[in-house]
Amino acid sequence: MPMQSETAARPAGPRPVQSGRAGGAGTTAGRYGPWRLLTLFLAFLVILVNPFLNYFFGINWLQGWYQSLGVGHLWFVSPLEGLESLLVTRSLYLPSLIGMAIPLLLAFLLGRVFCSWICPISFFAEIIERCRLPGSRRRGGRVRFGHHLIWFALVAELLLTMILGAPVFVVLSPPGLVGREIMMAVFSRRFALEGLFLVAVLAPELAGRRVFCRSFCPLGGLLALVGARRRMVVTLAPERCIECERCSQACPMALRPARGETLSVYCWNCGACVDACGPAALAFAWDGADPGSRAGVRFAYHFAQGRNEHAQEK
Ligand code: SF4
Ligand code: SF4
Repeated sequence: MPMQSETAARPAGPRPVQSGRAGGAGTTAGRYGPWRLLTLFLAFLVILVNPFLNYFFGINWLQGWYQSLGVGHLWFVSPLEGLESLLVTRSLYLPSLIGMAIPLLLAFLLGRVFCSWICPISFFAEIIERCRLPGSRRRGGRVRFGHHLIWFALVAELLLTMILGAPVFVVLSPPGLVGREIMMAVFSRRFALEGLFLVAVLAPELAGRRVFCRSFCPLGGLLALVGARRRMVVTLAPERCIECERCSQACPMALRPARGETLSVYCWNCGACVDACGPAALAFAWDGADPGSRAGVRFAYHFAQGRNEHAQEK
């Protein structure tokens, strides 16, 4: 998307306050939400149906879940679990490295989209959120922790793996646990005890938004790090923004898109802010098509940073 030039500053004077979702030309309202929910549902369906195909019908071209997922001869390995096995075994296992390549490339280009568009924990969180009262959906909800804690979670998890000499996240990965519990239920007619960890991960969603994903998921931290300079970003057209803050209220990661925080490492490209923005001031953009567009994105970021500082000074 072409970015705004430096002369595209908004006109002075009071801004109209939007009282409802705006329609009209250029609106993107509701464009991504239904697709995101459908994608999350289909991704969950894959790991739900897979054990039945394996066990009852002997169909094995699809195997595993979102820690290690096999489609035919192609295996996808979760980057954190792959990194853990590297640390524990201290050896390079080529199939594991190849399996990590596609998820890492996806994160490098698109950011944390596994978390926002595929992970079963996000699917459950979206269901819980849609069942909650509208007033409780705002910003981060009542239960909130700092974004930066995710780096502590990642470092702590890797240190623990090295100290114990055992892959901790292989056992306690929430998306992995969902797949493993379904597999155990089908194959053994019982659940694993560590499945209780899923309750602890999802319970805060009753009063907060993406509490675990935002501040405590080590896999999310690793994918955010890999996608820090992602090519796909949500960009801001400042002259269209009417400062209604609907994007901030929509953001499950408690970011402020109108202040340039879509470019931060914590944005997981869910598109909720794009949907919420009536005047279509926010849009997904491929930041890499040409050097000009990349410079434009950086300008938008610094513009928004300036606004942020200006707002704090006031
Ligand atoms: S970018 Fe955010 S604050 Fe600006 S118009 Fe869109 S929803 Fe409102
Ligand atoms: S800034 Fe927008 S795209 Fe990024 S996490 Fe928030 S709502 Fe999703």
